[in-house]
Amino acid sequence: MHSSITDKGLSQLLQAATDLVARRLPTGEAVAAAILTQSHQIYTGIWIDAALDAAALCAETGPICEAHRTNEVVLASVCVMRESTNGDIQVVPACGICQERLSYWGMDLVVGIPGTKIDGVCDFLPLSALRPHYWRDVLPKKLP
Ligand SMILES: [Zn+2]
Repeated sequence: MHSSITDKGLSQLLQAATDLVARRLPTGEAVAAAILTQSHQIYTGIWIDAALDAAALCAETGPICEAHRTNEVVLASVCVMRESTNGDIQVVPACGICQERLSYWGMDLVVGIPGTKIDGVCDFLPLSALRPHYWRDVLPKKLP
């Protein structure tokens, strides 16, 4: 994990995602994400549902685009969901597509998973642990 990331910082990141659920999606099913950049900026986003499932967007999509727009380096990402209004907030590991998008910033980037270390509900693992047989590892280190 990057040396500038602290458990307190990861807790604030998790809180940013859960706060967004409370503020923007107070009822029903909800999914929100937050990413932490090297300059300690936190970007948040919500899932975009669509009638056609293939048109839906993961909650990480907006924050990832924002990090590219501002030329920030992403160090950590977390996604949370609630299945119904009275349901508990659960940490959801980034899906395979979001893991691929996040790998732009390297396999040391950490992603929230269900656990206990952060606020009793979340741990963080590097992408390299989530993807031990990453497809790009068989290619030369520098791509054109
Ligand atoms: Zn995703």
